[in-house]
Order: sequence, then C-alpha cells, then structure tokens
Amino acid sequence: MHAEDTVTAQLALFAEAPAPKKKRTRRIHPSVPAAPSSTVPAELLAEADWILLNSSGGKDSQAMASHIVSLAARLGLLHRVVIVHADLGDVEWGGTRQLAEEQARRLGVRFEVVKAEGGDLLARTVARFFKLKAKAETEAREQGLDPTTVKVAPAWPSSSARWCTSDLKRGPIRKLMTRLVDELGPLGRPVRILNCMGQRAAESAPRAKLARVEIDRPASNGKRHVTRWRPIHGWSDAEVWKEIARSGLPYHEAYDWGMSRLSCSFCVLGCEADVVLAARLRPKKAAQYATVERKVGADFKHGLSMREIIRRAAALDAEHGKLRRPPRGTAMARYVGKKTTGEYLSRLDYQGRLDLAA
Ligand code: SF4
Repeated sequence: MHAEDTVTAQLALFAEAPAPKKKRTRRIHPSVPAAPSSTVPAELLAEADWILLNSSGGKDSQAMASHIVSLAARLGLLHRVVIVHADLGDVEWGGTRQLAEEQARRLGVRFEVVKAEGGDLLARTVARFFKLKAKAETEAREQGLDPTTVKVAPAWPSSSARWCTSDLKRGPIRKLMTRLVDELGPLGRPVRILNCMGQRAAESAPRAKLARVEIDRPASNGKRHVTRWRPIHGWSDAEVWKEIARSGLPYHEAYDWGMSRLSCSFCVLGCEADVVLAARLRPKKAAQYATVERKVGADFKHGLSMREIIRRAAALDAEHGKLRRPPRGTAMARYVGKKTTGEYLSRLDYQGRLDLAA
C-alpha cells in the first residue's frame, strides 16, 4: 500500500472524532499516601500485591525486568510479577512485541499486551491537527479575526506536549491496573501495585531529576495505590549490558544496527543519528512520516523535518552503499567485550532475525 493510502486509511478511524472533552480537575482520594512507605527493594517487593514491569522491549526495560525477576524469585514472589508491553503498532520496530513476550516467557512470568484504541501515532497526529485547527478558527471568529489566517499549534508530540506517552502507553497500562485490581477481589484495603520502569538518570537531564521511588498519585485511587519504582535509575549503559549478558535474554537487533534506543523507530525526542539511521532502515515508514508532515504543516521534530532526515539518509546510502547487517552481538561487545558477548551468544538460542524494514 502506498504511504499516503496507509495514512488515509488510518485517518478513517477518526472520521467522526468525538467532541473535545471538558477538562476536569482530578481529586486525589484521601487514602492515597503522599510518600512511599519504603525505598528498600526487598520491602517494596514484599509489600506489593502486583509487581508490574513495564517493558518497551528495549535494553533498559529488559535489564530492569531480569534484575527484578531475580530479586522476586529469591523472595518467592514470582506469582505477583506481570510484564506489560504497550503495543505501539507499526511505528515501533518490527518484532518488538514478540521479543517482549519471549523475554517474559524465558523469565517465567505473566505477560500482558495493552494497546490504545483507535489509530497509531501518525493518525493521532493528523486528528490532533484538525482539532487544533478547528479550535484556533473558532477563537479567531469569536475575536472578529479572519479564520483562514490562523496559526495552528504543532500537532506532533514534543518534550513539552508528550501526549504520545500518555495516550499510547500510560492510559492503556492504567486500564490493565484496573483489571489486575478486579482480579484480586475485595481485600478490605486498596490493592498495592508496584509499577516498575526502566528509566535511567544517564539517559537525559530530565530523567536524571526523576525520583527513584514515588507514589503515582494520579494513577492511584480508593481501590489501588500505585508506587512508581525506577530500580535501575542509577545504572550506567555498561551495567545494563552486563545484566543482559548475565540474564541470557535476547535483545532487539536494532541495537546491533546502531540504534541507541528502541520503542518508536522515529522518536520525536530521539537524537539525529538515530532518526537518520532509522530512515535508512525503514524508508517506507519515513515516507509516511513525511506525508503526515505535509498534512499538518509542521516538522516532525522541532527544527528537523522528516524531509531533511530522508535527504540525509539518502546521502549516506549514496556515499556508503546500503547498510549491511552487522554481526549479532555488535552492540553488546562495545560494553562487555568480545569474550563475554561470545559466551552470551553461545547460550542464546534465539537466532530469529527481525524484519526491521517491515
Ligand atoms: S518513543 Fe518517542 S515518539 Fe514514541 S511514544 Fe515514546 S516519546 Fe513518543
């Protein structure tokens, strides 16, 4: 299917987009504590009714998952562990959901996939553009201005409007929390959910400021109290790769190709090197992003358009030729050395190649 057709088909899902909801002020239930009862890993795990491990399928979440599963196993708590993957559809790297599931299977814990209803990130960006445009035009008319000259706010997600994470990940995962609470039935107290995430301080300055343990008050209510825990917040890249080598779990091949992060192939917050590499690996998907750029009249990344990304990718292909598949273990070897990587690969029987260009 042509890139334009794919986007148009997705847009049909939003043909009758519901009217914008009125903003409501959220009241936090009085039973929700202000601060966590402990920051000691063994105590956090022992107190939880559910230990929810968020997995993007990426290296940080898989290292976090194998690390926590080891701790939970020592405490006899594996039956409380659930790995959850928010499926982003075709905007994420091929094989990611299957990999997250395979990791959970090898760790011997329950696996859940959640997915936002409606279109993917591209369809939502276009739908959001039309909503913002309609709003700006209405405001212009009310002020006696010409609605055809209004400036529409950027529809793409960004660091200051990160609606992709809340719509496509956080929202669906909260629905799973509701289901998990129902599964336990009445306990005579709110269910305690320990929501574990693989975010690390070394990733970025904003992430460095995040607390290691905190109460997720907006996700909590009278039925559930959610504690957010970032167990590997202080870990370096090398520590993450060491844990992957120790666990023997397969990691996504996109890292061997040179990607520094996983999740969406084209992340609005990703570094330039990553998005250009992704355009070389997924030219058809890059073309779809460029189509949406034209529809919404704004660059995909602040200050960097997909048109330019595609141009740079094409220039690199012309200069160096098409990318060739790197040897398995390339990414890991950089951090743990060839010997440890060789031992890891010899234990790894998951040799299935992922179709990155899909
Ligand atoms: S990977 Fe980037 S673009 Fe995709 S959901 Fe996360 S922040 Fe948004």
